[in-house]
Amino acid sequence: MILKDQAFCPACGSALVERTLEGEGMVPYCGQCAAFRFPQYNVAVSMIVRDEASGDILLIQQYGRPFYILVAGYVNRGEQAEHAVAREIREETGMTVTRARFNRTRFFEPSNTLMINFTAYVSDAAGIDTNAEIDRYRWFSPDEARKNIKPGSLAAEFLNAYLDENPA
Ligand SMILES: [Zn+2]
Repeated sequence: MILKDQAFCPACGSALVERTLEGEGMVPYCGQCAAFRFPQYNVAVSMIVRDEASGDILLIQQYGRPFYILVAGYVNRGEQAEHAVAREIREETGMTVTRARFNRTRFFEPSNTLMINFTAYVSDAAGIDTNAEIDRYRWFSPDEARKNIKPGSLAAEFLNAYLDENPA
């Protein structure tokens, strides 16, 4: 069961077997390398970006798709997730994060990615300057953000859970 997504050793390509590791239970093991191979996955951050002054929420459209989602990006190897929050927002929107607060995580199977959702407040919303990764953006009141985010998406799950916990 644990081998479903990782059947082969990422170092040598040999077939993995399951072996008991003390304190961890059954873990994929490579007999060729004589090493345990924990399942590998990506890590990304997803941000509910809020204008500190108005409380409005930033939603974006990307890749030619006509629906609104949250700003997100992959965490670099060795990078702190909270640093990735500020870096991605800086790169994609030019804005400065003044504080970020952890909300929740979800595993996104289609891209083998652990998504970590934060609320990130920005102090310079008027200076927004989006890069080529963003087709369109718009600031919404919390109620309007809830109505406009892509229904059924992971972004919507994050946003709706956050707004349920933080009513305006
Ligand atoms: Zn190996």
